[in-house]
Amino acid sequence: MASTELKGCGVPRDKSATASVSDCDIAIVGAGPYGLSAAAHLKAKGFAVRVFGEPMEFWADKMPAGMLLRSPREASSISDPTRAFTLEAYEATSGKEPAAPLPIETFVEYGRWFQHQLGSDLDTRSVARVDRDGDEFRLTLQSGESVRTTRVVVAAGIGPFRRKPDQFKGLAHTQASHCYEGRKFGEFSGRKVAVIGAGQSALESAALLYESGAEVEVIAHISELRWIGMHSWLHHLGPISSMLYSKHDVGPAGISRLVAAPNLVRRLPLPLRDKIRKRAVRAAGSRWLPPRLREVKITTGRAVNTASSVGDEVALRLDDASERRVHHVLLGTGYDVNIARYDFLPPELTQNVRQLDGYPVLTGGFSSSVAGLHFIGATAARSFGPLLYFVAGTEFASLALAKNIARNGAHSKQQ
Ligand SMILES: Cc1cc2nc3c(=O)[nH]c(=O)nc-3n(C[C@H](O)[C@H](O)[C@H](O)COP(=O)(O)OP(=O)(O)OC[C@H]3O[C@@H](n4cnc5c(N)ncnc54)[C@H](O)[C@@H]3O)c2cc1C
Repeated sequence: MASTELKGCGVPRDKSATASVSDCDIAIVGAGPYGLSAAAHLKAKGFAVRVFGEPMEFWADKMPAGMLLRSPREASSISDPTRAFTLEAYEATSGKEPAAPLPIETFVEYGRWFQHQLGSDLDTRSVARVDRDGDEFRLTLQSGESVRTTRVVVAAGIGPFRRKPDQFKGLAHTQASHCYEGRKFGEFSGRKVAVIGAGQSALESAALLYESGAEVEVIAHISELRWIGMHSWLHHLGPISSMLYSKHDVGPAGISRLVAAPNLVRRLPLPLRDKIRKRAVRAAGSRWLPPRLREVKITTGRAVNTASSVGDEVALRLDDASERRVHHVLLGTGYDVNIARYDFLPPELTQNVRQLDGYPVLTGGFSSSVAGLHFIGATAARSFGPLLYFVAGTEFASLALAKNIARNGAHSKQQ
């Protein structure tokens, strides 16, 4: 097979190679909100950027239809340097009525529209592997072709970090699955489903399952469910509200302001930073969920001790010795960030990345300890705080990343 240049990536290097080998200034792994936003900012600085992956794949294929965004509209725009590609701009262009809360379908369409505004710098293939190759990186695509680049930005999201607690590990995927594995909730109509957890994932999934005709019970170990934004009057106090909450609305009064300053959060001692992060994203549901859960059985203050398969059912034994028989267990049990679980990053590479419990330790410009390797999105939340778990963090991340690379140059060994 002759060597062919990969679109948008410059001059092929190795004409004799069997697979295509091309140059890129910067390769971005992942075409979700963070990858697309970073591409827009880096492109505006004049870099040859390529984004790999299906645009908005996690939102379109892994989250259930009918989901609503928990973040406010003001915090749901993907950042671009001229603020021309906001959610409002998309709605105006497409003639969509602004909705709050925002349906996931609109957000997916918005992300794909944003990607179209970027032009042809997208390659929908997945990256199978990233290797260090001298001063550069070699990306091997799922198709077998390879791409050379001087910098790699990992914007691959949280999909591989799904937490499956030990007691459910023995169950087959047909009997226990994570909330965000792309299950169609309609398939559970008429079936008994236990939903484990008390966060937005668990509670919204429970509502959607119930509305799809399933018999649902939520089992949560916290003593009482919590709801986000129940003190809505605190948002209507004019300048006082502005002092308490940022427009991103991540975290409770006061903490919300701190969360909106990721550079300040990065300078705080780690224990305090961790405390803020955990408090800002503790398990809670949106305030529009309680009416939808009125008919759903909720069991709080209880944990599942064991889960075993009995024919086509699952037997759950709780810590009060009670039992449940269900057809399926849906795990809204969260995520554990661990970059070693990105299967496209080989251990030879990740073991050189300085880490804190699976999170990369990052500089102010989102550089890891491996020169030229950057991480944005949830993997950056241990360094910069919880804003980086949300779309609202795209502005800060993309500006800081692009500024850092522009200062040091795409080809520099400087981080
Ligand atoms: C239930 C739930 C509800 C949420 N609600 C909100 C909300 O309301 N507001 C909000 O701001 N945030 C919300 N979030 C958080 C949300 O995940 C992030 O805000 C957002 O997805 C971050 O964007 P991202 O680009 O980092 O990750 P993603 O959107 O996950 O994008 C990463 C992309 O990388 C791709 N990818 C992975 N590996 C490869 C590879 N090897 N090659 C190519 N592509 C690859 C994935 O397919 C994925 O499409 C929610 C999360 C969950 C789980």
